[in-house]
Amino acid sequence: MKQSCPVPRAFRLSVFYTLEGVVARMDAMQQELKAFKDPALARGLIESIQALAPESATLMEVCGTHTVAIARNGIRGLMPEGVRLASGPGCPVCVTSNHDIDKVIALARVPEVTIATFGDMTRVPGSTSSLLAEQAAGRAVEIVYSPLDALRLAQENPDRQIVFVGVGFETTTPLVAMAIKRARAMGLANFTVYGAHKNMPGALEVIINDPALDALILPGHVSTIIGAEPYRFLAEKYGIPGVITGFEPVDVLQGIAMIMCQLHEGRAEIEIAYARGVMPEGNPVALAAIDEVFETCSATWRGLGEIPGSGYRIREEFADFDAMRRFQPDVEEVREHKGCRCGDVLRGIMAPSECPLFRKVCTPENPVGPCMVSSEGSCAAYYRYY
Ligand code: SF4
Repeated sequence: MKQSCPVPRAFRLSVFYTLEGVVARMDAMQQELKAFKDPALARGLIESIQALAPESATLMEVCGTHTVAIARNGIRGLMPEGVRLASGPGCPVCVTSNHDIDKVIALARVPEVTIATFGDMTRVPGSTSSLLAEQAAGRAVEIVYSPLDALRLAQENPDRQIVFVGVGFETTTPLVAMAIKRARAMGLANFTVYGAHKNMPGALEVIINDPALDALILPGHVSTIIGAEPYRFLAEKYGIPGVITGFEPVDVLQGIAMIMCQLHEGRAEIEIAYARGVMPEGNPVALAAIDEVFETCSATWRGLGEIPGSGYRIREEFADFDAMRRFQPDVEEVREHKGCRCGDVLRGIMAPSECPLFRKVCTPENPVGPCMVSSEGSCAAYYRYY
């Protein structure tokens, strides 16, 4: 008999496509968000999970923001015996390879270049240096909060070449695409991008069998852009259920409860628990922007290796905005950090606390690997909350 999971009333984001829609829904949204922290609702969902869970199951939370939400709200400890929540590769800073970091560092060493990057990236160690170390050595590295900040930097500093470090999944790729288009429209000749963007579904195909996973808690942010369709193959080809969910405590529990429903009923489908943010078809405007500026390519992921079709590179038509093509710096030979197990952590093979360096040598103040640097990194989340 079909079990139904208790779910809070949700609303769709489609009304947000206009500014008026955003303003009109703000108050309602604030009210509705309270429901996603409701203790009574959370208790009901926990009971559903307990009642429906199989004897043993491994669920992977793919997204780094989910890893943090699960740790912060103590959700791992609420799981029935036999149910394991493994953290996955959904932290963009963490999966950026040493080689990519080394290339950005090589760009930072070009005299006329100013690197514009999100803060986390400055602390990620490359083979022998980091952007923070390069900044201390006198290179120009600026922290920005969006690609548009980098555009502004380019406008205000016409004597400098601004290179924006484009790292992230489908969530940030459209913003970078828009920034490149705007730079072209403005005739900015001193703005380029180092592109290390990745797409999520291809990586999931690599990780679902090692370790064997029973279900996926699918990322909310990425799915606002790509929708549910790109994950469909996981259910149809591999029989792995997946639920796209949000980041409040009730969101996460709702997603897990819906997964338990599927496992209980022997179904494998891709469902959306995050209906207030995700539509099945995704965001067509953002997808069109990605497609106009980028094309898919092979990409190297930390811990997962090279995955065909899992990266984005700037199309030939926008080659003027590709920093590596413009500056062609010498890049040092890649070296991996001894003892760091970020690769295994990103695959869900080991918990951060099982890394021999965790807390002893590797801390947020003195990180050995990117999983301890990033605010979305599994090691940083374990350090803070367990
Ligand atoms: Fe790497 Fe530090 Fe995490 Fe160990 S604790 S896997 S060294 S980031």
